[in-house]
Amino acid sequence: MNQTAVLHRKPATERPEIKHTTCYMCACRCGIRVHMRDGEVRYIDGNPNHPLNNGVICAKGASGIMKQYSPARLTKPLLRKPGSERGAGEFEEISWDDAFSLLTERLAKIRATDPKKFALFTGRDQMQALTGLFARQFGTPNYAAHGGFCSVNMAAGMIYTIGGSFWEFGGPDLDRAKLFVMIGTAEDHHSNPMKIAISKFKRSGGKFISINPVRTGYSAIADEWIPIKPGTDGALMLAIIHELIEQGLYDRDFLVRYSNAGQLVSQDADADDFGLFVEDEASDPVNPMYPQNKLWWDRFSDGPVATHAEGADPYLLGRFTLPDGRKVAPSFQLLKERVASNTPEWAEGITGIPAETIRRLAHEMGVTARDQKIELPIAWTDSWGKEHKTVTGNPVAFHAMRGLAAHSNGFQTIRALAILMSILGTIDRPGGFRHKAPFPRAIPPSAKPPNSPAAVKPNTPLGGMPLGWPANPDDLFVDDDGNPVRLDKGFSWEAPLSVHGLMHNAITNAWRGDPYPIDTLLLFMANMAWNSTMNTSEVRKMLNDKREDGEYKIPFLVVCDAFQSETTAFADLVLPDTTYLERHDVMSMLDRPISEFDGPIDSVRIPVMEPKGECKPFQEVLIELASRLKFPAFVTPEGHRKYKNYPEFIVNYETEPGSGIGFLAGWRGAGGDKPMKGEPNPRQWEMYAKNNCVFHYALPPSYRYMRNWNQGYMEWAQRMRIRRFADPILIHIYSDVLQGFRLAAQGKRAGKQPPQHLRARVEKYFDPLPFYYEPLESQAADNVEYPLNAVTQRPMAMYHSWDSQNAWLRQIHAHNYLFVNPLLARSKGIGDGDWIWVESMWGKVRCMCRYSEAVEPGTVWTWNAIGKASGAWRLDADANESQKGFLLNHLISEELPPLPDGRRLSNSDPVTGQAAWYDVRVSIRKADAGEPEQSWPQFDPLPAAPTTSRIKRAWQAYRAGRGEFK
Ligand code: SF4
Repeated sequence: MNQTAVLHRKPATERPEIKHTTCYMCACRCGIRVHMRDGEVRYIDGNPNHPLNNGVICAKGASGIMKQYSPARLTKPLLRKPGSERGAGEFEEISWDDAFSLLTERLAKIRATDPKKFALFTGRDQMQALTGLFARQFGTPNYAAHGGFCSVNMAAGMIYTIGGSFWEFGGPDLDRAKLFVMIGTAEDHHSNPMKIAISKFKRSGGKFISINPVRTGYSAIADEWIPIKPGTDGALMLAIIHELIEQGLYDRDFLVRYSNAGQLVSQDADADDFGLFVEDEASDPVNPMYPQNKLWWDRFSDGPVATHAEGADPYLLGRFTLPDGRKVAPSFQLLKERVASNTPEWAEGITGIPAETIRRLAHEMGVTARDQKIELPIAWTDSWGKEHKTVTGNPVAFHAMRGLAAHSNGFQTIRALAILMSILGTIDRPGGFRHKAPFPRAIPPSAKPPNSPAAVKPNTPLGGMPLGWPANPDDLFVDDDGNPVRLDKGFSWEAPLSVHGLMHNAITNAWRGDPYPIDTLLLFMANMAWNSTMNTSEVRKMLNDKREDGEYKIPFLVVCDAFQSETTAFADLVLPDTTYLERHDVMSMLDRPISEFDGPIDSVRIPVMEPKGECKPFQEVLIELASRLKFPAFVTPEGHRKYKNYPEFIVNYETEPGSGIGFLAGWRGAGGDKPMKGEPNPRQWEMYAKNNCVFHYALPPSYRYMRNWNQGYMEWAQRMRIRRFADPILIHIYSDVLQGFRLAAQGKRAGKQPPQHLRARVEKYFDPLPFYYEPLESQAADNVEYPLNAVTQRPMAMYHSWDSQNAWLRQIHAHNYLFVNPLLARSKGIGDGDWIWVESMWGKVRCMCRYSEAVEPGTVWTWNAIGKASGAWRLDADANESQKGFLLNHLISEELPPLPDGRRLSNSDPVTGQAAWYDVRVSIRKADAGEPEQSWPQFDPLPAAPTTSRIKRAWQAYRAGRGEFK
């Protein structure tokens, strides 16, 4: 840092001013106060009146000022210089008008001929309701956001089981829990709210257990750390379920009434309905999409009865024969049989956790749930009309995220976790797991992806939202031969429940032309040439690779970002985005709001300053393009533009004309007096601005619990269009949805069939009951040569690649190490701080070793996204981030080893397409004496993009808005 810089103070000309908006230094969306003077940011702190963070701010949030004034800011649209190579980062400036004309002309041609040749993939943005709408109106199926490579297993595994999930959609009720078990979570999801909740929980005497290969962040303050081998959490969950059933420590009453545990499953192996719930054909299914005419075996009459029949009580265990001779069993019996061999001793050999610990863990969960029950004096009525005087809680709470999700066995692992939470009786109950609006949703939610190539037509919106929730094989987006329609092969037999798409395969598939080549790829906020991609070095080559005719294999690449990243260097057209302090934004009920347990909450960002240079929010870019391309939702029937800009779009857009439902739920109605639903209010933004940028609808207490089966809540949610139906949402202990796919794979179901090469795979992994299997990469790798698991996690002080360029946060981490248990390191002759090679079956990296006792010895790990390409993000070519920092991504492949016939399958969960980041197997060895003390691989330094700034070293250390170091 240049200590000799001189401060030239300008006199203050304006009074200090405080503006409120919402943080976006990570995805938590805390409320912030931005302290301004002379139009410049002086500092940022937490908004004490915000429901999410109550004034708390983290290191990232407070460092937003350094993102705002980052030298890496792009400030004008840029076009790759004619004749220059992609990746060289040579650009010339163009005007927005030229950029829009160029894009409109290109996209109009694609839309008029073959809309799927345009693909839009976005990173960790928070506007998927808008980007999804844009893709749908364009008519392309090729749209997804980062979820598929982040934690889609968590969303899908939970939602296909309990109708809700963690983080934005639900979480642990730590105000009332007595035992809190956190599994596979770093400190980057739900960051400040989780810290506040854990702090209160611990002060009130709760016990916090962390199960994680690495003890950092939240785990560091756990009362007990249980290290586990990565990718084996499913075995642990199954063993705990085994123990709870063996000990009788499950909540029978809860399971009977609120899950499908008592429903009878067809058990005639030769019958076409084998493994499906038996339906009483003579009874009304009530809702054919979610039929309710299932059967129990009643203990009193010793015969089949309709589920929830008054006075009946079903057996959960046993096997029975229906009067017509069909063999049946309650699904709980099948679960019991499934986990019969999943003993703690069995799990010990897989997870590395002693059987005694597993047994103790199960017992502690079971007795806490059973013996420390909570009764809240809140009367409510369930979906079958039964009135309850109280709400009961079993105070065991869980939280889990990417550590479970980012494995190729993550979906079934998370199904097992959701079932564990359910048999403890903790779903939407005090002290357990609580939903957040718009969840719970039906299992699966009723929105479906398109299911035929005919859904893609020139100059026509797509026949359905690009992403949805398949309920059976006929919902898959495949052609008559079972081939994928989407570029990423989402919703195909390769990954049938890929509800967030497979962004990690988009570039490889487009490059290979499998299933087809595309013309234009638009990336927003996704660093796909670096840390947001697997197989980074090869993907960079693919972006640069040309066809025989000299054209790039991906002919046109558009990148919208606020900063000069590694990916912008590959763009043909760069569109400069704004920062979060310069734009309007919504955290919408149509997308990912910030709801709390007690009711829906949505929030906004309101610009606190003008965009820098010619930066334009991506939202405005989409509105402009949609209007120029005359998408039906964006123009009048006469073809005139409907919305002047994004704020006007947000206020006036309704899901259907007159629906009263829009992006924002607060202050609707002409006068702003209607919550949740009402006609557009021209002053809606003003009202959010006056209310801390937040709208909070507090549900009456009787609607706040048991929402899967709460009649009052369901009817309210249906009126507010949060739910399509008011039916009860029974927990899927047993998944007949999965069994439907398995029957198709077995050729026992009419309708869509998997192609031959995927039949066995679908049959195996679409198991209606959770099971453990070794991650797919471990199955394929030489586990003797590569004996270690390697994982990454985000540091508390940085989020994705945005923050490792932040002048303040770089003082916390400027490069990363590989953290290795000293026992392991010493056994390899590696000293603390030594340069080492880390190798997988896919590649190798050179980096520095750091001893750490806080990692189990079979695992090595590092912080994600600190390593940078030389010169990217406007850092010096010899900055620590590129010279000492490294990316584990070079060791991870986006595809599994080739099948015997040469086909390649995604390195993903075979159910959901979740990227299997944490499956990689590695070995480590000390670098040879004399090797450069520099991370490897290295790339040619990127030149500074035009319109980025000179690095002003001194003011990065201190800037107060009143002056500037020169
Ligand atoms: S937790 Fe995330 S949203 Fe909250 S202050 Fe920190 S960076 Fe901002």
